[in-house]
Amino acid sequence: MKAPVLYIVIPCYNEEEALPITSEKLIALTDDMMKRNLIDVKSRVTLVDDGSRDRTWQVISDLCKRDKRFEGVKLAHNRGHQNALLAGLLTAVNDADMIVSMDADLQDDINAVDEMVDDYHKGYDVVYGVRSKRETDTFFKRFTAEGFYKVMKALGVDIVFNHADYRLMSRRAVEGLAQFTEVNLFLRGIVPQIGYKWTTVTYERAERFAGESKYPLKKMIAFAADGITSFSVKPIRLVFSTGVVVFIVSLIMLIYALVAKLAGHTSVGWTSLMGSIWLIGGIQLLGLGVVGEYIGKIYNETKRRPRFIIESVLNKADNE
Ligand code: UDP
Ligand code: MG
Repeated sequence: MKAPVLYIVIPCYNEEEALPITSEKLIALTDDMMKRNLIDVKSRVTLVDDGSRDRTWQVISDLCKRDKRFEGVKLAHNRGHQNALLAGLLTAVNDADMIVSMDADLQDDINAVDEMVDDYHKGYDVVYGVRSKRETDTFFKRFTAEGFYKVMKALGVDIVFNHADYRLMSRRAVEGLAQFTEVNLFLRGIVPQIGYKWTTVTYERAERFAGESKYPLKKMIAFAADGITSFSVKPIRLVFSTGVVVFIVSLIMLIYALVAKLAGHTSVGWTSLMGSIWLIGGIQLLGLGVVGEYIGKIYNETKRRPRFIIESVLNKADNE
């Protein structure tokens, strides 16, 4: 039986220090898997240069010149990790049966690829790499990252806990991904929406071995905000439900103010003032919530997500 073709896609931004070691390790890994006939000899590593300002592209071109097992893609401009990754996936998809994505710093244990490919052979379309421990992360990073996954879950977004962008996708899963045309890319949220049979593989996350993190706090916050606002309209709903609550409270306050007035122990103007402040506040929030609902709809429409992805059809009549 012919083994499937594996592509490993790596977005690289200013990774001149990490790439020589990373490329060597990945070639050793794929060589070994080829020998065991787990993957085809046409399997390759796709390196995407995300508009780096250092010698990253030089390093990638040299690798490609020396070794046909590397494929190089250069983005014209720095578009960020998620876009660079997508560019690599879509470049590789036509040549690959399955694609693994990972970071250039090999913080994600590359030995898990073996297990991922194993699961592919078992019939899984998506295999998520999940971090078992976060001991190498600082307390701050761990706390914010895990908090982020919890908030996402609470907002009803379907994401895999402690999974970053280390995953295997079959060709048809990547083709499904290609149908998501949204510009604010948050792959961790999109991939579960593609569907198909999936599973997870756990691994321990190591420290970055060369260069420094390309995700400073500012980018991390922007990324988290992007994730939430790209997948959940719950914050809008929250405005609406607050409006309802304030409106109900305003009615109670109105009754209370009237009763107090009738009982005669209020000063002049207090009743109308009390009533109008609460009433107007409530109506404003309700109005905002209603407008928000429509904006939520517009926002869902503009994303033009695929309405469905068919996995298989049985007994379909062929019109011959
Ligand atoms: N990266 C990228 N474009 C960017 C920022 C990062 O392609 O604008 C790549 C980077 O080269 C690395 C991966 O995304 O391969 C993850 O970045 P990093 O390891 O710095 O993130 P961290 O592990 O610190 O969250
Ligand atoms: Mg990293």
